Amino acid sequence: MKNHPKGLFILFFTEMWERFSYYGLRAILVLFLVSKVKGGYGWTEAEALSLLGLFTGMVYIMSIPGGIIADRWLGPKKSVMLGGILLCIGHFLMAVPDKTLFYIALCLIVAGIGMLKPNISTMVGELYTEQKKRDAGFIIFYMGINLGSFLATLSIGFVGETYGWHYGFSLAGFGMLLGQIVFVWGQRYLREVGNNLKKRASAPKQKVKLSPTDRKRVLVLGILFFAIFVFWTSFEQASGLMTLYAKKYTNREVFGWVVPASMFQSLNAGFILIFGGIVAAFWAARKTSPISKMAIGTILVGIGFVFMVGAAIERADVGQSAIYWLVLAYWLHTLGELCISPVALSYISKIAPKALVGSMMGAYFSATGFANIAAAEVGKLAGKLGELSIFAGLVVISVLTGAILLLFSRKLTKMTQEDELDAAVPDSVASASVS
Ligand code: GLN
Repeated sequence: MKNHPKGLFILFFTEMWERFSYYGLRAILVLFLVSKVKGGYGWTEAEALSLLGLFTGMVYIMSIPGGIIADRWLGPKKSVMLGGILLCIGHFLMAVPDKTLFYIALCLIVAGIGMLKPNISTMVGELYTEQKKRDAGFIIFYMGINLGSFLATLSIGFVGETYGWHYGFSLAGFGMLLGQIVFVWGQRYLREVGNNLKKRASAPKQKVKLSPTDRKRVLVLGILFFAIFVFWTSFEQASGLMTLYAKKYTNREVFGWVVPASMFQSLNAGFILIFGGIVAAFWAARKTSPISKMAIGTILVGIGFVFMVGAAIERADVGQSAIYWLVLAYWLHTLGELCISPVALSYISKIAPKALVGSMMGAYFSATGFANIAAAEVGKLAGKLGELSIFAGLVVISVLTGAILLLFSRKLTKMTQEDELDAAVPDSVASASVS
């Protein structure tokens, strides 16, 4: 930890609190919408799920304009600052029990995350010149994300359900405010990153020209985004189908206490905190290419669903399934996530053409956004086809996609001519001396 730049910890805490507010809101949004008490809207489950899918999808899809705005006009740092302001306003408006303000708040949050999320990741990438260090930096950053999510799912859910939904929403707002304060205060440690617009200020209207290698790199990223879409479509069953499965068909009793179905989701963040370092150390000792790691991540999420198939078979046999199936599935999903998500962030910040890093980050997050929407649709299919077929289908699609990517990983890696980037003087160093 000591040999990481101080700026990493500013970005770590900013993103930790931003995720705290997002996952906290997400944890109670559906419950609030269907609730008939404490100011809930009393919607049907289907209506609530549709809004949830649209909201969580749009949050990430908005990363495309967020990334483009950073690339063309604001630069990452100012974009994060603006995103943070929108988020503070949005989360506090959520705390006011008024329906019009509720929709405005959701729009502000969608816009705010679109501005903040891809660009803060770009800034983390800029802190490093060496790829191994950058990978490690992103793992640490990813732990911050999950620490935020873990704390939120435990605290905001509890406050919202016990004392009232709007108290939960305002707790999310205070979290975001803390994140913004950290970011503003920490500017002194971020002078050299997030300004990448400066370099191009001399030729502001010039069109971005890509070299043939750059074009190939963009193409490879495009292919990877497809696998990433498959990964998240499987993974995001967590808040939908897997939670419903836990609720309806799983014997959740542990030492006489019935574990609430929603709490299963904190297994993911908890496993990340436990295994993040172990997975990082595992990869640090090997020379596996990032593309192979992402392929392995996609295979792992597929294998995770083998346990859900086991659960569904057990249920067909004896009427319910045991808790350990879900725990094992979440464990493998988390290991897969650790192979794909921080690795992708780090890889994009390395190989995307410098003028397009923000846009590529945006494209990456939007792939995950579309996956959120797709995940909801796949989950709904279980009503017709049954859980067993859906889980089995996800095994097949994820393992196949991962295996094909693994097969071509060497070829794709070659196409990117990645080694050149390790040898070259990184732009972030060049820009640091200019600014
Ligand atoms: N859990 C991660 C985060 O919140 C991944 C999100 C994503 O890529 N869709 O940042």
